[in-house]
Amino acid sequence: MSRIDLGPFPAEPGYQEAVALDGADPLARFRDRYLFADDSLIYLDGNSLGRLPRGVPERLGRVVEQEWGRRLIRSWNEGWWDLHVAVGERIAPLIGAGPGEVIVSDSTSVNLYKLALAGLQALPERARIVTDDLNFPGDVYILEAAAGAMGGEHEVVVVGSDGVEGPVPDLIDALDERVALLSLSHTTFKSGYLYDMTRLTRAAHDAGALALWDLSHSVGAVPVDLEASGADLAVGCTYKYLSGGPGSPAFLYVRTALQDRLRNPITGWWGHRAPFQFDLRFDQTAGIRRFHTGTMPILSLTAIEEGVSHLLEAGMETVREKSVALGRFMVEQAAEFLTPFGFRLASPASVEARGSHLAYSHARAWAVTRALAAEAEVIPDFRTPDSIRFGLAPLYVGFVDVHTAVQRVRRLVEEGRHLACGEERSTVT
Ligand SMILES: *Cc1c(COP(=O)(O)O)cnc(C)c1O
Repeated sequence: MSRIDLGPFPAEPGYQEAVALDGADPLARFRDRYLFADDSLIYLDGNSLGRLPRGVPERLGRVVEQEWGRRLIRSWNEGWWDLHVAVGERIAPLIGAGPGEVIVSDSTSVNLYKLALAGLQALPERARIVTDDLNFPGDVYILEAAAGAMGGEHEVVVVGSDGVEGPVPDLIDALDERVALLSLSHTTFKSGYLYDMTRLTRAAHDAGALALWDLSHSVGAVPVDLEASGADLAVGCTYKYLSGGPGSPAFLYVRTALQDRLRNPITGWWGHRAPFQFDLRFDQTAGIRRFHTGTMPILSLTAIEEGVSHLLEAGMETVREKSVALGRFMVEQAAEFLTPFGFRLASPASVEARGSHLAYSHARAWAVTRALAAEAEVIPDFRTPDSIRFGLAPLYVGFVDVHTAVQRVRRLVEEGRHLACGEERSTVT
């Protein structure tokens, strides 16, 4: 079979509009800050691993050669010990947090466990966590584990949805005097539904519960204002839109007023008041640092700051405007060119109710995803059972990219190239 036409496709409707939108894009200059090793590849997987910021290799090289290689153990006193706090302070403005409210620490999963259990322990007379079925399953496992660690009657209530939109009225109904914690993904991982953080947080507070938000698919993609919304607790990932690199450590947020009321249940030495006293009795330190546990992966931590600085410079309002425009353009193009081939939008129809990714369902979604990567130089990701997720990272995805990607998907399916792909899955989809 001959190779698929990779475009661009100037004769197809929408092309001139895409060129004009790219020409007027105030964020266009950021594209060069990221590595494009392969010009024909359209990378629409901002959701699981953001592109490499060009400044990272040099920065990592410096840390490896100078700080590790030459300065050795001395580097802990020359910046490493406080680096998780410093990087947390850089992330804070992206999520509407103040000074001393964010640290980088552990993985998203572990941070969720720490904060969920801390929240349950703070409200011992309440035995419920409320979440929804759009939440990342890994988060639900963690919430179950936190409930289990309470050792008694604690339970997780998973409110059902239609699979696309957050079940807001049912969630609000579920919030009552039995609930300690409302825990949701702000932008849901599959459909991209975007919760109204202020409204849900207020509903949790009205019921006397705490609100714990997972910002993994929001940070760097949509504006978040934890302080204005009154959110109590939050966690989030740094390897998605922040481009922190594979396995980069996550962040956590605890509202200042709550910090000394909550205890970190994973009481490691980094959360001790005087870690180098090596006292056998644990004495939890004050403030956000008590939510720390153990030694940080300095190399991964170093890699986070580059992508964060680009987002800070761009400004989240401008990032959101472009994200909305990219999403709207993709939905229009897909309605015209992909709907006839069995694709159906599996994200909210309203732009206000969406984050920065779009899901499309298709009967052969996995085969299409594989064929796209193998023959069409388009990388989205697949989410079982039938969704293809397109991440539109505003700092480095353009409108012509979207136009070209839609045309490649259309041609691939029109030519039936996905039909030869089997259904056996790779480990990571
Ligand atoms: C990506 C993501 C995670 C990842 O958690 P890890 O601990 O880094 O594996 C967790 N929750 C949500 C909602 C995510 O999107």
